[in-house]
Amino acid sequence: MANIPDVQNQPSFADLTTIGVGGRIARFVEPRTREEFIETVRQADEEKTLLSVIGGGSNILVSDDDFDGMVVRDARHSITVVDDESNDENSLLKSITIRVDAGVHWDDFVSYCVHNGFAGVEALSGIPGTVGASVVQNIGAYGQEVASSVSYVELWDREKNELCTFDVDTLEFGYRTSILKQSMYQSGAHSATTKYFPSPRYIVLAVVFKLTKSHTNTVQMGQLAKALTVGVGQTFNIDDIRRAVLMIRMRKGMVEDPHRYENTWMKGTIQDIQRTFVELSGDDANTSDSKVAANFGTIKVDRNRWSCGSFFMNPIISTEVAQTLPDGAPQFDATLPGGREGIKTSAAWLIDHAGFKAGFKVSDDATAGLSTRHTLALTNRGGAHCNDILELARVIRAGVRDTYGITLVPEPVFIGVEI
Ligand SMILES: Cc1cc2nc3c(=O)[nH]c(=O)nc-3n(C[C@H](O)[C@H](O)[C@H](O)COP(=O)(O)OP(=O)(O)OC[C@H]3O[C@@H](n4cnc5c(N)ncnc54)[C@H](O)[C@@H]3O)c2cc1C
Repeated sequence: MANIPDVQNQPSFADLTTIGVGGRIARFVEPRTREEFIETVRQADEEKTLLSVIGGGSNILVSDDDFDGMVVRDARHSITVVDDESNDENSLLKSITIRVDAGVHWDDFVSYCVHNGFAGVEALSGIPGTVGASVVQNIGAYGQEVASSVSYVELWDREKNELCTFDVDTLEFGYRTSILKQSMYQSGAHSATTKYFPSPRYIVLAVVFKLTKSHTNTVQMGQLAKALTVGVGQTFNIDDIRRAVLMIRMRKGMVEDPHRYENTWMKGTIQDIQRTFVELSGDDANTSDSKVAANFGTIKVDRNRWSCGSFFMNPIISTEVAQTLPDGAPQFDATLPGGREGIKTSAAWLIDHAGFKAGFKVSDDATAGLSTRHTLALTNRGGAHCNDILELARVIRAGVRDTYGITLVPEPVFIGVEI
């Protein structure tokens, strides 16, 4: 039997998640090599132990009950260039291929790319979580999706007990989904889970990205273009794109709380978060280490940042349902499951127009509430438990359904609870 690293005092999910709720964990393991990671998963499966492989805990909502299983978080943080020579098929620019351990914090990877002039992920700046999880739900923001930069993913297949690699076609990326995420659920129904739940059948060991060697890239979304005072489709410096995205996110409260990394269980899982926050709150782009250390304490804990990000997905509805929405409801062309033409609308708009304004709580003394800056973020205002978040989610979902006949689908993975 392999010598699997373990810790004596176990954390709770409240310690490990951005929303800060969830019960105690029976066993928490942080493998430090690829072999340990695989062996830990393989052994847990062999012993039929309930297994939750997590990254930054930014897309899970976990029950307040004790978790009688094993939680595994990859502690590897390597980023390696594997090919620096190839020509980009679509332009005269060169491309670069980079292999990134699943445990690398996503924004550390983005920061590395922007710093070195590798374009393709800069608009995804500031998304919490890890590289491993980025491909599970195909993260996206401000006109970019991780799917467009992935070359292939190295995986451990829990069914076959073997290593495999999936290229982009095999990964079946879609809006906030992939074959990895689908492998947790039965035929697309999020309430019906498979035996692998709450982790996928395929465990991500590393993601191999193909990026363009360039200090500029195209701005692909109106809100970002406006912040940079350019038109959509124009090119801009990726450094400035990153900074603009981070500023927009800060204003909306859609960044994680940097103070969570002072928690014993989170220390060392991300490199530059203190620097990023200090630099964004001042004018300085190259702050000294001593200034970062001195100024970080002045950054206040903001409860709007204690969330799972967007709690509900933007619904994709039939054109008939879309016609029943009032004027002003955002509508974008999209494809329904099965390939039929559909319309994507905005969950934030529906929530807001169903009467749930920013800051909404079910009662004055409730510990859960909508972010005061974004109606799509359900937040822990201090002392909330999972049940408080769920109560808020149920009230909002019912209100939107009553007003517009649309049932919102949650984006995070629910562990031990249902909405
Ligand atoms: C403030 C905030 C803003 C956000 N903004 C965005 C946004 O703009 N766009 C967006 O797309 N998302 C956004 N999110 C959601 C979230 O950050 C992403 O989904 C992120 O990729 C989750 O990463 P994680 O490491 O925290 O995953 P976790 O929450 O730890 O896990 C999520 C799922 O991935 C699985 N998983 C984790 N690691 C692995 C692995 N190595 N192998 C297999 N499965 C694994 C877990 O089992 C779980 O099922 C936001 C969240 C927050 C809190």
